[in-house]
Amino acid sequence: MFYHSTNKQSRPVDLKYAVLKGLADDGGLYMPQSIPQLQPEFWSELPHMSLAETGFRIARSLLESEVPVSVLKKICYDTLSFDIPLVKIDENVYTLELFHGPTMAFKDVGARFMSRLMSWFQQSDSRRLKVVVATSGDTGGAVAAGFYDLPGIDVYVLFPKGKVSSLQQKQITTWGKNINAIEVDGTFDDCQALAKEVLSDRELNDAFLITSANSINIARLIPQSFYYVWAAAQLESLSKPLVFSVPSGNFGNLTAGLMASAMGLPVSRFVAATNINDVVPQYYISGKYQPQPSVQTISNAMDVGNPSNYARMMELFENRYPEFCKNIYACAFSDTQTQEAIKKVLNDFNYLLDPHGAIGFLGAREYLRKVETDAQVVFLETAHPAKFPETLPIVMEAEGKLPWQLQQIANKQEKYVSVENSYQKIKQEII
Ligand SMILES: *Cc1c(COP(=O)(O)O)cnc(C)c1O
Repeated sequence: MFYHSTNKQSRPVDLKYAVLKGLADDGGLYMPQSIPQLQPEFWSELPHMSLAETGFRIARSLLESEVPVSVLKKICYDTLSFDIPLVKIDENVYTLELFHGPTMAFKDVGARFMSRLMSWFQQSDSRRLKVVVATSGDTGGAVAAGFYDLPGIDVYVLFPKGKVSSLQQKQITTWGKNINAIEVDGTFDDCQALAKEVLSDRELNDAFLITSANSINIARLIPQSFYYVWAAAQLESLSKPLVFSVPSGNFGNLTAGLMASAMGLPVSRFVAATNINDVVPQYYISGKYQPQPSVQTISNAMDVGNPSNYARMMELFENRYPEFCKNIYACAFSDTQTQEAIKKVLNDFNYLLDPHGAIGFLGAREYLRKVETDAQVVFLETAHPAKFPETLPIVMEAEGKLPWQLQQIANKQEKYVSVENSYQKIKQEII
């Protein structure tokens, strides 16, 4: 199968090229040329499959022409070695807990799959693979955890000095081995600019395979489609219309859901739930897409003013606004509403949400109230509440301690180099 760019200005490429390159030469995002339907046998066997087996079967249907089945099986079983339980919150409202991985956010799923796939592709190349990633907080940790100790690969995580939380910094700097943490005296935008310069550096590209691990890589998107199917498999019945409410920023997670739907998962509609960075909800209302500068909120992983996966969603809808609205209902919520939802859900259902999941919950509630009262809605809980300062006190009160993933890193020694905001310094580190 080939992968083409959403900008349509560069040639279709194979999976290895798309994964190792990340972004297409014309600046577009890679999409599969076609999305195969899962076969009737798959659906009839689904109730008896484990999470890892479910992922493997889907991966096989998408990728078996490019990756040997035994390799795919190992990658999927390795990636999906933690639980993704579906928990009932209220009548017709369920949450899919995506935070049981090593860095306690759904990004673990994409990062683990991508790292193992890249590692396999690297083995057929004589050059070392250098993975560069700029992070404003969560991505760095998930990528570091995903690539840790993989042979033939070095990772460089660029993080802005003093601008990530202490817990996030621990998740970036306590690995060692092939994970190089680099503190840059600058902002996240500076880190991103430096990372881009690395990717286009001739000399580095001649000596090494150079790639980026940010969210636009197709290898992060594909495995995120697995857990939509897994969620449906855990529901008691599919007799009621199935809706997913997805707390969204860059819209990678929601796009993966659309792919699951294209493979045959019977989804009535997706709810695109955002914070006040509401470019997509505004598009839903007006039909006009107008990127905005991002605004800081308490659901900070969703503070995105120009979501890159909008291009992928529109391609799936053949650029038709009515098609978008048929498949997606979009709504936005303020920080105040988010905080109230966290309190209310804890009080009414004894369940603690993180600020991102709270937006997913609010989206689910609004959809059931305004759109389809007889639906069952699964909202995605994208991170563990202990990762966020405003919900952490409640976690500590209830559990008396941090979850083991966070406890483990809290005692580890940090190791990183500090550099000024200069490309030459970064290049030296990589060489
Ligand atoms: C990245 C992230 C999101 C947003 O996901 P997108 O795929 O960018 O829409 C939501 N919640 C958490 C906790 C995240 O880390």
